[in-house]
Amino acid sequence: MAAIHMNRAAFEQALQDNELVLMDFWAPWCPDCVRITEAYDQIAQEFEGRMVVGKVNIDDEKELFKEQGGRRIPTLILYQNGKALGNIVEPPSKAVIDDFISQVMPKKEEPKAVSEHEMVIIGGGPAGYTAALYAARAGIDAVVLEKLSAGGQMALTHQIDNYPGFEDGVDGFTLAAKMQQQAERFGAKSVNAEVIRLDLKAEPKVIETSEGVFCAKTVVLAMGANPRELGVAEEREMIGRGVGYCAACDGMFYRGKTVVVVGGGNSAAADALLLSRIAQKVIVVHRRDTLRATKVYHKPLMSAENVEFRWNSVVTELVHGDVLQGIRIKDVKTGEESEVACSGLFVSVGRKPASELLKGQLELDEYGYVLADETTRTSIPGVYVVGDLRAKPMRQIVTAVADGATAVHMAEEYLAEKE
Ligand SMILES: Cc1cc2nc3c(=O)[nH]c(=O)nc-3n(C[C@H](O)[C@H](O)[C@H](O)COP(=O)(O)OP(=O)(O)OC[C@H]3O[C@@H](n4cnc5c(N)ncnc54)[C@H](O)[C@@H]3O)c2cc1C
Repeated sequence: MAAIHMNRAAFEQALQDNELVLMDFWAPWCPDCVRITEAYDQIAQEFEGRMVVGKVNIDDEKELFKEQGGRRIPTLILYQNGKALGNIVEPPSKAVIDDFISQVMPKKEEPKAVSEHEMVIIGGGPAGYTAALYAARAGIDAVVLEKLSAGGQMALTHQIDNYPGFEDGVDGFTLAAKMQQQAERFGAKSVNAEVIRLDLKAEPKVIETSEGVFCAKTVVLAMGANPRELGVAEEREMIGRGVGYCAACDGMFYRGKTVVVVGGGNSAAADALLLSRIAQKVIVVHRRDTLRATKVYHKPLMSAENVEFRWNSVVTELVHGDVLQGIRIKDVKTGEESEVACSGLFVSVGRKPASELLKGQLELDEYGYVLADETTRTSIPGVYVVGDLRAKPMRQIVTAVADGATAVHMAEEYLAEKE
């Protein structure tokens, strides 16, 4: 059974009638909310009969969300006997939601399964699911391990206009679902699991996950990238209290207010444009004197009446009480410092590769990207790196899917030699 959609009356009744209730405060326009749907529905199934798992759309129940102390979505709140025990905001994986629930209900400990495969693909973004499609069509027994839901970063974007074949564009979540279904049509398998440890040098290679151990002759690393933080003091503490990384998710909370966008690339430009339609004023803080973003963004941004720019500037400090009140910025040319009053700060300063698990096993570049040429072969035979995780000049969906196909081509040769 999927999570139950509730209005205020149903929510209050659920709290009154049940010892344990897990509630997801969400909205259909929020990409991070949509991304957790699959994992959340799975939780509803796993806890059926033991805990009520519900969802409240904050568009319909704004006041209720405020009363529950909500500031960002998705927010998951766990209630016991009608009282909130705690919450998590924007869970990055199903395993994190499982851990959160385990404070009141330990997960049924089932013996961790060990399974063997010809290929394990870590990450269900466009690179991972293209590898899965090519592997399945080549008759390779392949499984995709994904910690949240298909699509990766692609699923965070409402409109993709540069992926060939969609003349009117396509939203990232739909494209993700299509890629997954296409791979599964040919027999690729998907498991919702977070990889926590890897031994890539072992034969077979060992992949430890939240759902058991997977052994594989070949491994395709497709873990992509995550937002890069600014690195200013108290940034983490202020997440959800004014600091955010997803304008499409949290922009709505700044209607009529002043917000700052930090960055000058495509994501920052898209965020600034989106926020200019919601906020009263948008201030773009960028360390250079011109945008790095594609030309298509320049004209609309420069002509938006409520968008201002602070060129050659970096954020040095967050000014806050309980919530963000402003930032301090420094002009990198003159050294002059000033304060900018704002209610929201959206950080859009690039991505960092999800390569933590690989340190000490594979060659990484100075930024943490895995070194491999166009063949996608890494320094360990039988291990391939694809998509945004690979050191390469352009990180887009088209380049990610190309890597996925190439990796399987190389793996086929490797598997044939091993036979
Ligand atoms: C806001 C935004 C807008 C964009 N717009 C466009 C656009 O218009 N056009 C375009 O071409 N590109 C766009 N991009 C870039 C594009 O989304 C990426 O290049 C592409 O998604 C990279 O694909 P990937 O498969 O390499 O990695 P990702 O998409 O990052 O997928 C990686 C997957 O691996 C999973 N994962 C990570 N670690 C683990 C683990 N330990 N265990 C299990 N699973 C794990 C993650 O949950 C994720 O699902 C955009 C990116 C962003 C952030």
